[in-house]
Amino acid sequence: MRMTKKVFLDLAIYMIGFGLIIGIVFPLFTYVIGIPAEYLSNYLFIIGCIVAGVVVGVFNVILVNIVVGKRLNILSTRMQYVNENLKNSDNFDDEDCLKRCHIPVDSDDVIGESANSFNELVKSFLTTLKSESSIRKFTEIFTNELDLEKLSKKALEHIIDYTNSSAGVVLIDKGGKIEVSASHLIKNTESLLDMEIVHKSFSNNQQIKFNFPNDIKIEAGLLEFYPKAILIEPISYKNEVLGLVLLASTNEYKDIDINQLNVYTHGLSLGMHNAIIHDKLEQLAVLDSLTKIYNRRFGMERFKEEYSRSVRTNNPLGVLMFDIDHFKKINDTYGHIIGDQVLINFTNIISKNLRKGDVLVRYGGEEFMALLPGSSTEGTCIIAEKIRRIIEENKIVHGNQEIKITVSIGGTSFPENNTDNTEELIKIADDHLYNAKALGRNQTVCK
Ligand code: GH3
Ligand code: MG
Ligand code: MG
Repeated sequence: MRMTKKVFLDLAIYMIGFGLIIGIVFPLFTYVIGIPAEYLSNYLFIIGCIVAGVVVGVFNVILVNIVVGKRLNILSTRMQYVNENLKNSDNFDDEDCLKRCHIPVDSDDVIGESANSFNELVKSFLTTLKSESSIRKFTEIFTNELDLEKLSKKALEHIIDYTNSSAGVVLIDKGGKIEVSASHLIKNTESLLDMEIVHKSFSNNQQIKFNFPNDIKIEAGLLEFYPKAILIEPISYKNEVLGLVLLASTNEYKDIDINQLNVYTHGLSLGMHNAIIHDKLEQLAVLDSLTKIYNRRFGMERFKEEYSRSVRTNNPLGVLMFDIDHFKKINDTYGHIIGDQVLINFTNIISKNLRKGDVLVRYGGEEFMALLPGSSTEGTCIIAEKIRRIIEENKIVHGNQEIKITVSIGGTSFPENNTDNTEELIKIADDHLYNAKALGRNQTVCK
């Protein structure tokens, strides 16, 4: 029964109208209960009753406005606030909204229920907004970052934040070897690489969740403590596990967070796949495909850099040229494929015997060059002779045969040989190598 377009105005009309009717009916009612009839002919009494009825109606209207209207007003302003902010969702401030959108629940009835439902609605709306903006940021990360370690670091920060974890680590599979790609506050990340559950998650492409781990610790500043829960989520691309995220939390993980986590790891797997492809392409440009050491083009660039640094800092730079003796015979005897294996074995041995900052380059077919920053001629020659001897003693087992090779080495160093450029320095090492061959091979000529 609507009279106007406003509910409160309708209510006011009904209440005052009802008061008016009661005011009119009341004198008759007084007659029924035995109040003398002369009151009914007293117009002041009748007007008094009507006014009293109207006043009660007006009071009711005021009370409804105070008790119900005030609450509906709060609901309306909060809704407007949410609505206005929603239009500008990029700048939506969750914390501010949680304070300003919340309606106090102070009645145990339909009004309280409405306020409660509104608060819940705002909360789930904020959660949706948060995960939407989180996913948006995350998508930006994995589409813009091609460096695997940077990608892992940024993704880990994001996932830790999203899942309210305290610490975490991203592990990746690098050609069959599991490596730590990014870590945050996890103690002894290297020990994770041997953990059975990590390998299980990798090989079964399986999410693993468990509570109260006793072999994983979180370090926060000077403190170290055990997390309450661990969550391991594989990062797989087309069923191939590229890596995994291990998260540690001081609270148990909620199922809803775990389900949502998949959205992130799926995105991360796409980004990781891109980064791995990019990494491989970059490596292809600098590494020799057979021996996986630097190719000649990149090696010569590195040589120029190291040479310039030596000139600048007066730090010596040792150079070694290697040429395997009678390698043609190895190919002729055992075939090219075995010849390739011999080359791989040879470079592995040299790599193992060089220091961290040294550079090994495939200079030609069975010719190699090593750069030894910081090595004088004496140091360079000692290493050369050591390698020559190890190669001489090394046996490559092929079926029931043992393949043995020897190598001739020419060595020198800058600035003891004060050359003007890299070409001159190589020429000296090359001449020494030629002399080593001429002296009967399996020799080091180094000065
Ligand atoms: P020397 O002692 O004078 O160095 O004799 P050598 O036989 O090693 O020298 P030569 O330069 O005549 O032969 C080099 C051989 O290395 C010829 C070539 O087939 C082989 N070779 C070059 N690159 C590769 C490769 O990638 N794989 C294999 N299997 N053989 C290679
Ligand atoms: Mg040769
Ligand atoms: Mg040779």
